[in-house]
Amino acid sequence: MSEMDRRTFIGGGVAAACATSLMLGTQADAKPQKRRVICWSEGTAPKNIYPADINHAIAEGLSPLKGWDVVTASLNDADQGLPDDLLNSASVIIWWGHMRHDDVKTELVNKLVHRVKEEGMGFIGTHSAHWSRPFKALMGTPCGWTGGYNEDGSSVAVSVKAPKHPITKGIKDFVIPHTERYTERFEAPDPEQLIFDGVYTLPNGKTEPSRQGMIWTVGKGRVFYFQPGHESYPIYFQEEVRQVFRNAVPWAAHLK
Ligand code: ZN
Repeated sequence: MSEMDRRTFIGGGVAAACATSLMLGTQADAKPQKRRVICWSEGTAPKNIYPADINHAIAEGLSPLKGWDVVTASLNDADQGLPDDLLNSASVIIWWGHMRHDDVKTELVNKLVHRVKEEGMGFIGTHSAHWSRPFKALMGTPCGWTGGYNEDGSSVAVSVKAPKHPITKGIKDFVIPHTERYTERFEAPDPEQLIFDGVYTLPNGKTEPSRQGMIWTVGKGRVFYFQPGHESYPIYFQEEVRQVFRNAVPWAAHLK
């Protein structure tokens, strides 16, 4: 089994067949080429919440997407999960990191930035990926949340602020029962559009606003940051969250 096949999360046979037909050149009976999305994480999420880590939880939620080859990659894999042939084959990458941002090699960060800025690959950063090296490099700012981080089990009410945007299609305002609270201000450039706003309700009943979904264009690429996704809660199994990713992937690939 080749490295590429091994990484394929769903529909491995189809992906392998497509790759073969591409290598052989055009064939009259070749199936349409699937686009590829890579779900990347660093392997640090607690096993009792995410038994197969967050990359697999996000990939599972993307499995209904038609025309997409959904693959997983981990910092613990060879080439930090992203050998050139895999990275160069992706239309979109979804990035989740938390404890090991500094382990990501500069060479890989540069390749990711090149793929987004020069080649139009979509980049979706979620939760603590705001502090990941590729996200910071794409934004060009420190990307911290200056009000701090509180894992106090607050809920967050996520509200749709861009009802006509493809990322919000079919999504109504929803609540995530427990999350980690990132407090404004967010040290990133002003987004082109606020897609989801949010209001936390703290255990003491107080409320606090915090933006939950924002988009930017960076060179030729589209970037989406989605704040929910703390590893101590099953947020990436929640249906509304999964729909956000199913909408965001084709948008980030310039298909919507
Ligand atoms: Zn967290």
